[in-house]
Amino acid sequence: MTNIDRRTFVKGLGALAGAAVLAGCGGNSNKGDDKAQSADSKDDSYTLVTPGKLTVVAELGFAPLEYMDDKTGEPLGFDVDFAKALGKKLGLETTYLPNQKYDTLIPTIQQGGKADVAIAGITINDERKESVDFTDPYLDSNQAIVAKKGSGETDQSLNDPSKSVVCQSGTTGDEWIDEHLSKATKKPLDEVTACLTGVQTGTFNAFVIDLPIAQYMLKNSFPDLEVIKEIPTGEQYGVAVSKDNPKLTEALNKAIKELQDDGTMDKIETDWFGAAL
Ligand code: GLN
Repeated sequence: MTNIDRRTFVKGLGALAGAAVLAGCGGNSNKGDDKAQSADSKDDSYTLVTPGKLTVVAELGFAPLEYMDDKTGEPLGFDVDFAKALGKKLGLETTYLPNQKYDTLIPTIQQGGKADVAIAGITINDERKESVDFTDPYLDSNQAIVAKKGSGETDQSLNDPSKSVVCQSGTTGDEWIDEHLSKATKKPLDEVTACLTGVQTGTFNAFVIDLPIAQYMLKNSFPDLEVIKEIPTGEQYGVAVSKDNPKLTEALNKAIKELQDDGTMDKIETDWFGAAL
């Protein structure tokens, strides 16, 4: 679905739901108890790691979605405002765990007990759905290949063992390289800034990363780099939730619809991307 189609669709659903009030009652925080409840339990509450709080885990090096404020050390960004708005809808205080590597986020949610949700520009895909549940999509995305301005690189020239192509480990960009630049030498790293700096200094020939992040980072911090190809992967970001906590996914889906309906998503998009998307 295109973004516009999806929004129309979601807004339609929102209208049908009317002014449904969220039953955001945080249940107990004990995973064991949660598991002990049978699947057909009539208890419609969700569990929380810390009662009264929506505990979020993220990789905080992905501006403008999530990054750390240099001065305060607080997380900032589109996803952070979105996470706070979700918390507010559920009557919960949104709180972040310390920064974690991207490829640990889904395992953290799957294992349970540390965070209620991972919100980090995480693309919904079938492989990940085997480990965690996802909410409905909240933002569309694509991939981009980034290289040094004037490098003359193309996706064809990069598909060669003499070319090193960097990515953030465990991302959909990482997978895209496996599938489409299989002859290139892939270099997975933990941090986006290390990837960008490596391309800037010539250590790597190119970087495959989500397009909105590439555009933001290049404009603000890496003017000597350019997007040499936009890749229309049609990805959509979702909130990752434990499979043991389906009622939380349900409550978050209601909250997302409300945020789309009441203009909050448009406002957050305008704040971080300059326009409602
Ligand atoms: N959207 C990409 C993915 O899901 C990248 C996310 C990220 O690096 N934070 O893999």
